[in-house]
Amino acid sequence: ALPMVAIVGRPNVGKSTLFNRVVGQRISIVEDVPGVTRDRIYAKTDWNGREFHVIDTGGIEISGADEMANLIRVQAQLAIDEADVIVFLVDGRAGLTEADREVAEMLRRSRKPVVLGVNKLDHPKHHPAAYEFYELGFGDPIPLSSEHGGGTGDLLDEVVRLL
Ligand code: GDP
Ligand code: MG
Repeated sequence: ALPMVAIVGRPNVGKSTLFNRVVGQRISIVEDVPGVTRDRIYAKTDWNGREFHVIDTGGIEISGADEMANLIRVQAQLAIDEADVIVFLVDGRAGLTEADREVAEMLRRSRKPVVLGVNKLDHPKHHPAAYEFYELGFGDPIPLSSEHGGGTGDLLDEVVRLL
Protein backbone atom coordinates (compact mmCIF):
# COMPACT_ATOMS: atom_id res chain seq x y z
CA ALA A 1 0.00 0.00 0.00
CA LEU A 2 1.12 3.54 -0.68
CA PRO A 3 2.07 5.75 2.26
CA MET A 4 -0.64 8.04 3.62
CA VAL A 5 -0.31 11.76 4.17
CA ALA A 6 -3.13 13.39 6.14
CA ILE A 7 -3.91 17.10 6.14
CA VAL A 8 -5.13 18.00 9.61
CA GLY A 9 -6.17 21.26 11.24
CA ARG A 10 -9.09 23.22 12.58
CA PRO A 11 -11.84 24.27 10.14
CA ASN A 12 -11.27 26.99 7.56
CA VAL A 13 -7.47 27.05 7.61
CA GLY A 14 -7.39 25.94 3.95
CA LYS A 15 -6.98 22.15 4.17
CA SER A 16 -9.18 21.46 1.13
CA THR A 17 -7.47 24.21 -0.86
CA LEU A 18 -4.10 22.65 -0.08
CA PHE A 19 -5.39 19.15 -0.86
CA ASN A 20 -6.65 20.29 -4.28
CA ARG A 21 -3.35 21.96 -5.05
CA VAL A 22 -1.31 18.94 -3.98
CA VAL A 23 -3.37 16.50 -6.06
CA GLY A 24 -3.54 18.96 -8.98
CA GLN A 25 -7.30 18.78 -9.32
CA ARG A 26 -10.30 20.32 -7.71
CA ILE A 27 -11.67 17.29 -5.87
CA SER A 28 -12.33 18.60 -2.42
CA ILE A 29 -14.90 21.29 -1.66
CA VAL A 30 -13.55 24.63 -0.52
CA GLU A 31 -15.95 26.40 1.82
CA ASP A 32 -15.81 29.94 3.12
CA VAL A 33 -17.96 28.92 6.06
CA PRO A 34 -16.73 26.06 8.24
CA GLY A 35 -19.78 23.86 8.73
CA VAL A 36 -20.28 21.55 5.77
CA THR A 37 -19.89 17.89 6.63
CA ARG A 38 -17.83 15.85 4.19
CA ASP A 39 -16.34 12.44 4.38
CA ARG A 40 -12.60 12.16 4.36
CA ILE A 41 -11.41 12.44 0.77
CA TYR A 42 -8.47 10.48 -0.60
CA ALA A 43 -6.40 10.94 -3.75
CA LYS A 44 -3.20 9.50 -5.12
CA THR A 45 -0.42 11.87 -6.04
CA ASP A 46 3.35 12.07 -6.30
CA TRP A 47 6.20 14.46 -5.64
CA ASN A 48 9.81 14.08 -6.75
CA GLY A 49 8.97 10.61 -8.07
CA ARG A 50 7.49 9.43 -4.78
CA GLU A 51 3.85 8.25 -4.82
CA PHE A 52 1.54 8.57 -1.84
CA HIS A 53 -2.10 9.00 -0.90
CA VAL A 54 -3.32 12.29 0.52
CA ILE A 55 -6.30 12.52 2.90
CA ASP A 56 -8.29 15.72 3.28
CA THR A 57 -10.13 15.80 6.56
CA GLY A 58 -13.40 17.45 5.55
CA GLY A 59 -15.41 20.30 6.97
CA ILE A 60 -17.03 19.89 10.33
CA GLU A 61 -20.61 20.54 11.40
CA ILE A 62 -20.78 23.19 14.06
CA SER A 63 -23.47 23.87 16.63
CA GLY A 64 -21.47 25.24 19.52
CA ALA A 65 -17.92 25.48 20.64
CA ASP A 66 -17.83 22.25 22.67
CA GLU A 67 -19.37 20.14 19.95
CA MET A 68 -17.04 21.64 17.41
CA ALA A 69 -14.08 20.84 19.58
CA ASN A 70 -15.25 17.22 19.89
CA LEU A 71 -15.81 16.82 16.18
CA ILE A 72 -12.44 18.32 15.36
CA ARG A 73 -10.89 15.76 17.66
CA VAL A 74 -12.76 12.75 16.21
CA GLN A 75 -12.16 13.78 12.62
CA ALA A 76 -8.52 14.54 13.14
CA GLN A 77 -7.93 11.36 15.13
CA LEU A 78 -9.27 9.12 12.33
CA ALA A 79 -6.91 10.71 9.83
CA ILE A 80 -4.00 10.67 12.27
CA ASP A 81 -4.47 6.94 12.89
CA GLU A 82 -4.21 6.21 9.18
CA ALA A 83 -1.37 8.58 8.37
CA ASP A 84 2.36 7.94 7.96
CA VAL A 85 3.10 11.66 7.80
CA ILE A 86 0.80 14.46 8.96
CA VAL A 87 0.56 17.92 7.48
CA PHE A 88 -0.63 20.16 10.30
CA LEU A 89 -2.16 23.22 8.70
CA VAL A 90 -2.74 26.49 10.54
CA ASP A 91 -3.93 29.94 9.44
CA GLY A 92 -1.12 32.49 9.51
CA ARG A 93 -3.53 35.39 9.15
CA ALA A 94 -5.66 34.36 12.10
CA GLY A 95 -2.62 33.55 14.24
CA LEU A 96 -2.28 30.78 16.80
CA THR A 97 -5.59 29.70 18.37
CA GLU A 98 -6.69 27.43 21.20
CA ALA A 99 -8.06 24.93 18.64
CA ASP A 100 -4.60 24.80 17.02
CA ARG A 101 -3.10 23.96 20.40
CA GLU A 102 -5.60 21.13 20.89
CA VAL A 103 -4.81 19.64 17.49
CA ALA A 104 -1.09 19.99 18.30
CA GLU A 105 -1.61 18.01 21.51
CA MET A 106 -3.28 15.15 19.61
CA LEU A 107 -0.46 15.12 17.09
CA ARG A 108 2.18 14.96 19.81
CA ARG A 109 0.40 11.95 21.33
CA SER A 110 0.39 10.17 17.95
CA ARG A 111 4.21 10.35 17.82
CA LYS A 112 3.96 10.50 14.04
CA PRO A 113 6.09 12.82 11.92
CA VAL A 114 4.45 16.23 11.48
CA VAL A 115 5.11 18.98 8.96
CA LEU A 116 3.70 22.33 10.06
CA GLY A 117 2.32 24.50 7.25
CA VAL A 118 1.31 28.09 7.95
CA ASN A 119 -1.26 28.92 5.30
CA LYS A 120 -2.77 32.11 3.87
CA LEU A 121 0.60 33.88 3.74
CA ASP A 122 0.03 34.95 0.18
CA HIS A 123 2.98 37.32 -0.05
CA PRO A 124 6.57 36.93 1.24
CA LYS A 125 6.10 40.09 3.33
CA HIS A 126 3.57 38.10 5.39
CA HIS A 127 5.99 35.23 6.08
CA PRO A 128 7.13 36.53 9.50
CA ALA A 129 3.64 35.62 10.73
CA ALA A 130 4.84 32.00 10.65
CA TYR A 131 7.32 32.51 13.54
CA GLU A 132 4.59 32.54 16.17
CA PHE A 133 3.90 28.86 15.41
CA TYR A 134 7.37 27.70 16.51
CA GLU A 135 5.94 27.36 19.99
CA LEU A 136 3.77 24.43 18.83
CA GLY A 137 6.98 22.41 18.90
CA PHE A 138 6.96 20.89 15.41
CA GLY A 139 10.13 22.49 14.14
CA ASP A 140 10.30 25.07 11.38
CA PRO A 141 6.85 26.31 10.33
CA ILE A 142 6.63 26.44 6.53
CA PRO A 143 4.92 29.57 5.18
CA LEU A 144 2.40 28.73 2.49
CA SER A 145 -0.20 30.08 0.16
CA SER A 146 -2.37 27.13 -0.80
CA GLU A 147 -4.43 29.49 -2.91
CA HIS A 148 -1.50 30.77 -4.99
CA GLY A 149 0.89 27.85 -4.58
CA GLY A 150 3.72 29.62 -2.78
CA GLY A 151 5.65 27.37 -0.40
CA THR A 152 3.75 24.20 -1.28
CA GLY A 153 6.85 22.75 -2.99
CA ASP A 154 8.88 23.29 0.20
CA LEU A 155 6.14 21.60 2.19
CA LEU A 156 6.04 18.58 -0.13
CA ASP A 157 9.84 18.29 -0.10
CA GLU A 158 9.66 17.93 3.66
CA VAL A 159 6.71 15.48 3.52
CA VAL A 160 8.51 13.21 1.05
CA ARG A 161 11.69 13.37 3.12
CA LEU A 162 9.74 11.95 6.08
CA LEU A 163 7.89 9.20 4.18
P1 GDP B 1 -10.73 23.95 5.25
O1 GDP B 1 -11.99 24.13 6.04
O2 GDP B 1 -9.54 23.88 6.16
O3 GDP B 1 -10.78 22.82 4.28
O4 GDP B 1 -10.52 25.30 4.39
P2 GDP B 1 -10.88 25.59 2.85
O5 GDP B 1 -9.86 24.99 1.95
O6 GDP B 1 -12.31 25.27 2.59
O7 GDP B 1 -10.61 27.17 2.81
C1 GDP B 1 -11.29 28.05 3.71
C2 GDP B 1 -11.20 29.47 3.17
O8 GDP B 1 -9.83 29.90 3.18
C3 GDP B 1 -11.68 29.61 1.72
O9 GDP B 1 -12.37 30.84 1.60
C4 GDP B 1 -10.38 29.62 0.92
O10 GDP B 1 -10.50 30.31 -0.29
C5 GDP B 1 -9.46 30.36 1.89
N1 GDP B 1 -8.04 30.04 1.66
C6 GDP B 1 -7.48 28.81 1.57
N2 GDP B 1 -6.16 28.87 1.33
C7 GDP B 1 -5.86 30.19 1.25
C8 GDP B 1 -4.64 30.91 1.01
O11 GDP B 1 -3.56 30.36 0.79
N3 GDP B 1 -4.73 32.27 1.04
C9 GDP B 1 -5.91 32.92 1.26
N4 GDP B 1 -5.89 34.24 1.27
N5 GDP B 1 -7.07 32.27 1.50
C10 GDP B 1 -7.05 30.92 1.48
MG1 MG C 1 -12.23 21.41 3.89
